[in-house]
Amino acid sequence: MTERGVNDMTDNLTYTVKQAKLSVVQGDITHQATDAIVNAANSGLMGGGGVDGAIHHAGGPAILEECKQIVARQGRLPAGQAVITTAGNMKAGHVIHTVGPIWHGGSQGEPELLASAYRESLKLAAESNLSSISFPSISTGAYGYPVDKAARIALKTVVSFLSKTTSIKEVIFVLFDNRTLEAYADTLWDIMGEKG
Ligand code: ADP
Repeated sequence: MTERGVNDMTDNLTYTVKQAKLSVVQGDITHQATDAIVNAANSGLMGGGGVDGAIHHAGGPAILEECKQIVARQGRLPAGQAVITTAGNMKAGHVIHTVGPIWHGGSQGEPELLASAYRESLKLAAESNLSSISFPSISTGAYGYPVDKAARIALKTVVSFLSKTTSIKEVIFVLFDNRTLEAYADTLWDIMGEKG
């Protein structure tokens, strides 16, 4: 069933998609206790600002060590791909690092690459037998992707994945600021409304 506190933006918004729970909440992803949290990384996997910096700071040096080994083995991570490491000192079980596209106006494959970043992260979680996963709003910070457009792609990709895959039981979008929370909440409401 669907519930929404329409006038309270701090209210959590939760839907059921087949066997899975899909929620949009406000918070700091480094505090999430899901099997995996997703990092909006950059191709070098060496940490950075935004959510990437927060995850490396909270998780400690073990994450960077594994990232360095991955890059030594397979090179830089292209946009739209994902890899998995320990979560170090965080409550989450693992970190899935994915690279979103940098926004260049929308005609350089950005929508496909953003959808791929979500899809590959979910695939990797399922292949790793993980059942719960938290996402930040990939690409909408330093990478400049317009939040409304990104929210639609993020949520549609997740809903489509959940309607085909049974192993993932919970997906949580953990959004840092009010504006991003509002964009994702409105979009989720819209998408699920469309589905009746
Ligand atoms: P990108 O480079 O992919 O744009 P950013 O980290 O710059 O990634 O921003 C992505 C989103 O992550 C932004 O909405 C930003 O506010 C948010 N963010 C920053 N820190 C955190 C955090 N600790 N937990 C969740 N989201 C965060």
